[in-house]
Amino acid sequence: MKLLITGGAGFIGSAVVRQAIAAGHEVVNLDALTYAACLDNLASVADDPGYTFEHADIRDRAALDRVFAQHRPDAVMHLAAESHVDRSIDGPGTFIDTNVMGTFHLLEAARAYWTREGRPEDFRFHHISTDEVFGSLGPEGQFTEETPYDPRSPYSASKAGSDHLVRAWHETYGLPVVLTNCSNNYGPFHFPEKLIPVVILNALAGKPLPIYGDGSNVRDWLYVEDHAEALLLVVQKGAVGRSYNIGGENERTNLDLVRTLCAILDRLAPREGSYADLISFVTDRPGHDARYAIDPARIREELGWRPSVTVEEGLEKTVDWYLANEPWWRALQARQGVGERLGVGA
Ligand code: NAD
Repeated sequence: MKLLITGGAGFIGSAVVRQAIAAGHEVVNLDALTYAACLDNLASVADDPGYTFEHADIRDRAALDRVFAQHRPDAVMHLAAESHVDRSIDGPGTFIDTNVMGTFHLLEAARAYWTREGRPEDFRFHHISTDEVFGSLGPEGQFTEETPYDPRSPYSASKAGSDHLVRAWHETYGLPVVLTNCSNNYGPFHFPEKLIPVVILNALAGKPLPIYGDGSNVRDWLYVEDHAEALLLVVQKGAVGRSYNIGGENERTNLDLVRTLCAILDRLAPREGSYADLISFVTDRPGHDARYAIDPARIREELGWRPSVTVEEGLEKTVDWYLANEPWWRALQARQGVGERLGVGA
């Protein structure tokens, strides 16, 4: 397939681009290169004849029209977004602009192109979204595709808005869409403002390991390469108009997760004492969702997908990767806001 992937210079998008190229697809990576982007994530595919980079913003309709006309993709995989909840608390406007308005412009550009091409049935617009649109769970239960939306942060509200637009463009205009809602990802190339890389890099620097609140918040962790594999399956085999929840069935409290990371670091990069001694509890995130958990039965039963690693295996690979790739993360630590506590302004 010829895939137009938005946000391909980000954490998950770059994993999708690398896997798509390895699988023999052609890829056009459209990315505005915000603070969260890193073209080094794509060094292994940059010279592949099947790979093209388009430096463009999803809010720029004219640029989108040109890219569709020039490259004539078989499918769009839309990952470009503002993605950090803490930044959405301090500055929600960019999240509405990119996640809601950007998705609107991309849908309109895709619809115009698809109409010009004679409305091909096998065209796909795949929107990559988050489980955070479903809100916060109590101790029991899991999110299914039928769970009502209940977003609670500016980030999740903007992603919920974009999900609604994508469904509306299917119902109203017939655009062949698929959607996926995924749990928290982790793995190589994770930008050093998110919990897992923050913990690994602070630990290696001997700095405190910040845990929001009492660390009891539960997340369902998914290794990024498993997510990328699921996305490529859904764009090729997912049923039109359908959404699929993707999760690792790896629920952990933040405190357990950080303790597991410390135990791995104690083995792979031993120091005097345990890294767990650096754990430090800090003010909670405003509106911090208590628990997310995904029921991935639909994607497992309909498309045969399941995660390849447990969270312990995935975390070990991740720590190994950060230990071996210091120049990559050192360069990103200089970017605006990285290493600062964000999102307490509310
Ligand atoms: P990321 O922040 O690492 O990357 C986002 C990419 O989008 C960056 O390369 C950035 O330059 C690009 N981008 C931002 N605004 C843009 C714009 N206006 N025009 C063009 N490009 C723009 O994000 P990620 O963690 O890789 O997440 C990718 C997608 O997956 C997002 O839509 C996010 O909501 C969703 N998601 C993420 C997770 C997670 O755990 N990270 C979980 C579920 C869903």
